[in-house]
Amino acid sequence: MNGSQPYRVAVIAGDGIGAEVTAEAVRVLSEAGRRFGIGLAFEEGLAGGAAIDAVGHPIPEDTVALCRRSDAILLGACGGPKWDRGPAALRPEQALFVLRKTFQLYANLRPARMSPPLLGASPLRREVVDGTDFLIVRELCGGLYYGAQSRTGAGDARSASDTLPYSAAEIRRVVRKACELARLRPRRQVTSVDKANVLETSRLWREVATETAREYPDVRFAHMLVDNAALQLVRDPTQFDVIVTENTFGDILSDEAAGVLGSLGLMPSASLGDHPPGLFEPVHGTAPDIAGKGVANPLAAILTAALLLRYGAGHEDAAAAIEAAATRALADGCRTADMAGTAPALGTRAMTDAVLARFA
Ligand code: NAD
Repeated sequence: MNGSQPYRVAVIAGDGIGAEVTAEAVRVLSEAGRRFGIGLAFEEGLAGGAAIDAVGHPIPEDTVALCRRSDAILLGACGGPKWDRGPAALRPEQALFVLRKTFQLYANLRPARMSPPLLGASPLRREVVDGTDFLIVRELCGGLYYGAQSRTGAGDARSASDTLPYSAAEIRRVVRKACELARLRPRRQVTSVDKANVLETSRLWREVATETAREYPDVRFAHMLVDNAALQLVRDPTQFDVIVTENTFGDILSDEAAGVLGSLGLMPSASLGDHPPGLFEPVHGTAPDIAGKGVANPLAAILTAALLLRYGAGHEDAAAAIEAAATRALADGCRTADMAGTAPALGTRAMTDAVLARFA
């Protein structure tokens, strides 16, 4: 970031609670900018169902152009029952695919950190999850979800196939990203997850990962089979620091990680390529059941704002301050309805106010 130029954030609120929680994330970012002397410039763009309603397309060219001239994209969530019946190319989710592909956002980051005040929310015993703090780096642009698919035959002769292609270059770039991210963390440890005992792509993955790890002698690097990783995540999640894996395994393990924490509604994510803009969004969707009521939990979006500052703008101090303020609000008992149980709940805006009031 050039000191005289503001850091430009494209704000794509999207649909349902996406719009509600993104507005709160922008408030928190603005406050962090003010406190830490970070010049931030926000510009709004349309995507998802909101864009279909306004201009008939889920990701208008104007929005792609806005993202192209921005340093980061802050996204809420896209989709909802209103747009479910459209053709695939005109569905709200298409916006996300276009952004990932256009900006080659091949590394999807999902931090999983157990916030001490929420220890009781995990389905695992306290002594198992206490201290959990790992980062899943999922390959996002290749593998099974992008390989050739086919379907032939009729009746019992019907058959289908999916293919799982990976090139060495695709593997290398995401393993490098994981090693670089590990260098920003105290433990500097990477676990590469594959199924090298069965799959040829996994054998290539392991070969290239091993070669790439040699470029990072200061990072402790290990391999683990995916079935064992699934088991270890619930047996002892604290053993992990950075986990890097291919698209499908990452999809499954990152939801398992959310289950370990017991709070999908608190999970932020970042998708990064080799160049800005990165895409920063909460993991949750548009929650049509509670949209428009002002009760959505803004914390995943607020923690997403912290990731934008950490991995996008390079301001670790401001990112850590946001995370600490959110933890303090939770420790003081502040809860939105999804976390409150029978206790009184704060609305979306009041919960954000509670975080802002605890900014140190
Ligand atoms: P969802 O995450 O929107 O909701 C699942 C449940 O969690 C709902 O009961 C909801 O009320 C609750 N919830 C989610 N976020 C919450 C929050 N911040 N505060 C309080 N409660 C929260 O998932 P879904 O119902 O499967 O999907 C709804 C729509 O969102 C669909 O159209 C789907 O395609 C879309 N979606 C979009 C994204 C995205 O844009 N990245 C991701 C997931 C789902």
